[in-house]
Amino acid sequence: MPSALITGITGQDGQYLAEFLHSMDYDVYGMIKGQQNPRAEIIKTEMPYVELVSGDLQDLSSLIAVLEYTQPDEVYNLGAISFVALSFKQAELTANVTGLGVLRMLEAIKLVGGADNPIRFYQASSSEMFGKVRETPQNEDTPFYPRSPYGTAKVFGHHTTVNYRESYGLYACSGILFNHESPRRGIEFVTRKVTNAVARIKLGMQHELVLGDLSPKRDWGYAGDYVKAMWAMLQQDEPQDFVIATGRTHSVETMVELAFKAVGIDNWRDYIRQDERFMRPAEVDLLVGDCSKAKEILGWEPEVDFEQLIAMMVENDMALESAKAGRQP
Ligand code: GDP
Repeated sequence: MPSALITGITGQDGQYLAEFLHSMDYDVYGMIKGQQNPRAEIIKTEMPYVELVSGDLQDLSSLIAVLEYTQPDEVYNLGAISFVALSFKQAELTANVTGLGVLRMLEAIKLVGGADNPIRFYQASSSEMFGKVRETPQNEDTPFYPRSPYGTAKVFGHHTTVNYRESYGLYACSGILFNHESPRRGIEFVTRKVTNAVARIKLGMQHELVLGDLSPKRDWGYAGDYVKAMWAMLQQDEPQDFVIATGRTHSVETMVELAFKAVGIDNWRDYIRQDERFMRPAEVDLLVGDCSKAKEILGWEPEVDFEQLIAMMVENDMALESAKAGRQP
């Protein structure tokens, strides 16, 4: 059986990828940091087939030990400080985990892997690297212009991945994924924050939704679709980088409107308040990806569209919040 190690196993993508690899008969290892990590419980309960191993992207020797123990065929580096707003507040931590963490994992692979023991590597790169976009839509050749400590750290991780591939012949791929969401998305990200608030407002548990800038546009896809592209990248003859996106973009405002309409609320503006607290020192105004290369080479295409995605998330939050309130949705 093939085996895979996933960093960031407790995050949205880690969970979808673990489920997908398990369905393909992989042995799945998930790297967990810290003692008594509370999020490890979710994995232990919902995905008992994942073997959790202790390691930290800030500690090279722990990564070497994890690779020696798990002997993976594939490593998916999804672990990161992944929230842009937090990255402005903890820039050094972000550079260390999101940026240098990639370098440490590649060094560990170089040491533990080798001709007899090849390890394929996937790096979770991000559309945030395009930042103040130089062209639209963005593809694999679009120059980067990151706008946050998260974006700059991801650019470092991306170039380091390409560099290790070219310098040492590692099978290393960078997937430049545009925003991808799901019912498992963290509540701090705007889609989930909105769908959860909409459910609570509908159920009378909350009366307003406080947001930042409503004008930025994002290319939002479904995380369950995107993890399949990660896997497909590691199954090719040659390692390459790919943009993964839907090719459609919507403003935060449109997303908010759609979420409210999904529960039959038309006067949605009455519930919105804007606050500086949720504005960023520098914003990424427009992202929209061109994934023609992935379509052609990987045969990958998104299956869930934006409207279905928001409906799915609202429905999930209605069920969750109704259960909390002890009611039928
Ligand atoms: P990002 O694209 O990785 O930064 O993903 P987010 O979901 O965190 O943010 C998407 C966009 O929504 C950004 O342009 C944010 O500035 C904007 N936004 C507006 N209000 C909010 C808010 O209250 N929370 C978050 N997370 N983003 C917001």
